[in-house]
This record gives sequence, C-alpha cells and structure tokens, in this order.
Amino acid sequence: MKTRVSWTNPYKAGGKYWLKGNLHTHTTNSDGKLTPEEAVSHYLSKGYSFLAVTDHGKLFDPKTLRSKMLLIAGVEADFDHGKHTCVTAVKSEDIKFSRETPQQELIDQNTDKALVVLNHPDWGSEEHFTIDSLKTFKNYHGIEIYNSVIERLEGSPLSTAKWDRLLGSEIRVLGFANQDFHRADDFRDACNVVNVKKKTAAEVFNAVTSGNFYCYFGVKISSVGRKKNTVYVKTANAETIRFIGNYGVLLSKTNGKAASFDFDKTDATKYIRIECLGKGEEISWTQPFFREA
Ligand SMILES: [Zn+2]
Repeated sequence: MKTRVSWTNPYKAGGKYWLKGNLHTHTTNSDGKLTPEEAVSHYLSKGYSFLAVTDHGKLFDPKTLRSKMLLIAGVEADFDHGKHTCVTAVKSEDIKFSRETPQQELIDQNTDKALVVLNHPDWGSEEHFTIDSLKTFKNYHGIEIYNSVIERLEGSPLSTAKWDRLLGSEIRVLGFANQDFHRADDFRDACNVVNVKKKTAAEVFNAVTSGNFYCYFGVKISSVGRKKNTVYVKTANAETIRFIGNYGVLLSKTNGKAASFDFDKTDATKYIRIECLGKGEEISWTQPFFREA
C-alpha cells in the first residue's frame, strides 16, 4: 500500500465528490462517552460522510452497525510495546492487532491491507513520538499533523514541524487531521476531506490511502493539483496561502483565495505542500507534492 500514493501529485485521480470524515473516534467500546450508534449519528448531524471507529485495543467491525455513514473498520493500538497508532481498513478482517505486538511488527503486519497512522506526535509533557522515533519506524503510512483533542490536553495538537522534518528527509508519509473524539464537546470541524468518484467506503478508503484528500480545519479547497511543474490550489475562503518546502522553509506567501507555485522557481526543494489560512484559526493543509517520483 505504501506505493499507492502518486507523490508527484496525490490529487491526480480527481473525483466528483469531496467528503468529510474523521479517522480517529472513541466510543463506549473503550473510554469514549457515546455509544458507536450515538457517535455515528453525532457525526451525521455535522455533515460528515465517513467515520472510522478506533477504540483503544478494541477492533470495530462496520458490519455491526447499520447506517448511511460510510463506516471504516479500525482500532487504536495503544499496546504494551508502543505508542498510540490507528490502524484502519475497509474490513475488520484486514486488520491484525494484538496488545503484545511490538510497534514495528504491528506496522509490518498491516502495511499491505490497512492504513497505519502514528497519532498525536506532540501530545504530552514529553513528545509522544520524537522525530528520532518517527525516523526509526519504517513503512507506516502517515502521522496526525493535527489532533484536536490535544487542544484540551498537554502538548501541541499541531505536528507539521515534524512532518516537514520527515518529508525533507525523504520519508514520504501522509498528513492527517483527526479529532480523537471521546465526548460530544470534543467535536471540532477538523477532518480529512477525500476526493472520490463514488460514495462508498471502499472508494473513501482508496482515496485516503492514495493521498487524494486534504486536511480541513475551516478552509474549503475546491481544487488542488499540479500542471507540469506548477502546484496550484483554489479555495472558497482562504485569505493567505503558504507554499512550504524542505524542512519547513516558506517558499511563497500570497494573499487571496487561490495561488500557485512553480518547482522551477527554486531547485532547492524536494517537495511543496500548501497551507491555506482563513479567518481566525481557520486553516487547511494539502498533502505534499514531490518534485520527482
Ligand atoms: Zn485516540
């Protein structure tokens, strides 16, 4: 699965629909306050189209719940030998999990059929994942670059600095924005917005694992992609657009709803990613575009 992202343009596949979803959700199956049914209806009422239920140490099977929500199987592995990691898949049978499995083994067991995301790297009085540990583990698909529950906990919800350190080191991983939802007041409109041709759980999962999505927290992207060497974005409500390159270097900053940047303007960067800033704390993040495949 790690080869499924088209790193020169993750948005290449396109799609008619943009759908919102949260990929990190707790329920009464672990330490959440809402039952899976209640959590699903809460997200439906907020206009979300897909949801992965990822309880601590308990695998969620979408077949156990009937809903118009596109449900993704999942577990948050907070096992004996590692840190918090969400493993999700279309079918629960595609996920392998046991509390005793060491972290790298868990990643290796799930790398083909499931999606493995290392969670909230900057949670806690000490970092949950240091940059060294993120560089040491191999073959995971992504990290949470924003986890809104950390707003009410110690540490930082934002991990884009670590993401840039990984991308600059050619460790190509996707960025995710999740809520780590435990209770109704944990809801923030921070999520992953996928671009799909059909509204099915399989299509959503395919878009997520191929990087055809952006991380949303208030700025709506209407189109994003690459033409030749130019990376572009169009939004409904951005006020400032930032193009970021190697290890977090700000390549360009433009006021307005749309902007583009050409790789040919600099030979110094291996990748470009885009941050779209709106009013107040509104922001959205695209996946990175690498200069070369
Ligand atoms: Zn969690």
